[in-house]
Amino acid sequence: MGSAPPHDALLPLDPKTFAAESRPVIDFLSGYYRDVDKYAVRSAAAEPGRIRTLLPDTPPEHGDPVDVILEDVRRHIVPELTHWQSPNFFAYFPMNASTAGFAGEMLSTGLNVVPFAWAASPAATELEGVVVDWMCKLVGLPDRFLFSGGGGGVLHGSTCEAVVCTLAAARDRALSRLGHEAILRLVVYASDQSHSTFQKGARIIGIPPSNFRVIPTSAASGYGLTADSVQGVVEADVASGLVPLYLCATIGTTGVGAVDPVRQLGEVTRRHGMWLHVDAAYAGSALICPEFQDCIDGAELADSVSMNPHKWFLTNMDCCCLWVASPALLTSALSSNPEYLNNVSEGGADQVIDYKDWQIALSRPFRAMKLWVVLRRYGAAGMRAYIRRHVEMAKWFERTVSADERFEVVTPRRFSLVAFRLRPRHEGDHHAVDAMNRKLLVAINASGRVFMTHFVVDNKFVVRMAVGGAMTQMRHVQDAWELVKEKAKEVGALPTE
Ligand SMILES: *Cc1c(COP(=O)(O)O)cnc(C)c1O
Repeated sequence: MGSAPPHDALLPLDPKTFAAESRPVIDFLSGYYRDVDKYAVRSAAAEPGRIRTLLPDTPPEHGDPVDVILEDVRRHIVPELTHWQSPNFFAYFPMNASTAGFAGEMLSTGLNVVPFAWAASPAATELEGVVVDWMCKLVGLPDRFLFSGGGGGVLHGSTCEAVVCTLAAARDRALSRLGHEAILRLVVYASDQSHSTFQKGARIIGIPPSNFRVIPTSAASGYGLTADSVQGVVEADVASGLVPLYLCATIGTTGVGAVDPVRQLGEVTRRHGMWLHVDAAYAGSALICPEFQDCIDGAELADSVSMNPHKWFLTNMDCCCLWVASPALLTSALSSNPEYLNNVSEGGADQVIDYKDWQIALSRPFRAMKLWVVLRRYGAAGMRAYIRRHVEMAKWFERTVSADERFEVVTPRRFSLVAFRLRPRHEGDHHAVDAMNRKLLVAINASGRVFMTHFVVDNKFVVRMAVGGAMTQMRHVQDAWELVKEKAKEVGALPTE
């Protein structure tokens, strides 16, 4: 009597202790969000191998209380993080967290159901169908991507996975016509601004590396593809006996936010029986605002479209919407029917969705819950206002940079990304300008006050200011500009004559 139960006899999921064990985590996170703007955005303390020296070589034999674990998170982990949720994080693209995204993630991970087949979790599968249809309408895609229009959507973990799946569907459609040996003749096309995932995806699905075409873009088209440039490359391939398979069009490229003309490209891909994928990973979120809808004009000519709510849509990692016009093409490339997954009691398997056949993995989280909670909590109007706030901040930054004669905006801003640099003072000092801009970026980031990243376009080293953090406000963008000016002076930028 009176002796505590042995530690390892604790129930790992115990309704009696669940709330008490979980609450300290919420308190910890709420403190983290309160203080995150005080941390250096990119840790100065982090060093390869350092965390290993701080932690034991083996896991504990007996479990620690949550508070002790959280104390180690505070002491060892937080100081060596890059703080993606800092309002001063302007690097890469935003990866939004939000209170509703967190609530949705808690529900999803708390219920921890696995909707790989309809019967494995009916409501989770059904909710996913509803939510991808909602998103399809919000983003303004044509009805052919809705389930009621013969298409449909799925929530993947990443654009990279979505792209591999669409490439596999396109490949199998072509090979069912041409025979398997034709795989060596299939060609995949992207622009020099497309995401690297297309090249990787093409390699994964067996496209010979020499059959991946990178079509150059230029400042004249705002670094977007043109129908003529694609048409020319495609026709040359056809003339040499190759088979054009797949073109990636991007709305909001990763480097500078360029937009490919979907309708014109769609006309080319239709003519050649190619698959057209529209990658709107980042800028897809902006499409919910009518003023950006022109970017998606011609989407009815696409075979698939994807965007990442986990970037700029307040949905915590991970969540990528993929829509396809013909689900049968996707599922015939990806379906598997092992006996242990067959539904014994259900008839009418054709009427339900088994999402395992829309993706690579079998097991999958209940992502629909998370996106649904975000949409419910903030509403379409709230989301539009959220996007527009960032666009306004980026506009201000673009205007302000352009007004300073030492700087130039390298390519016109389309969404909330501004690509800028210190401008050359004389003809021909190209290398010196690049070196100065590199120094500028290093100095900006070394301050810890913000984090920005770079890109190289047209052989120009440019600094990327990607606005879109859930906590970012105008004053953070203004402070960033003050910092840029301060560091520009330090690296020796002088007013142009
Ligand atoms: C971020 C991004 C990707 C990759 O998205 P993941 O979800 O990380 O795979 C692809 N394309 C574009 C345009 C992106 O901005």
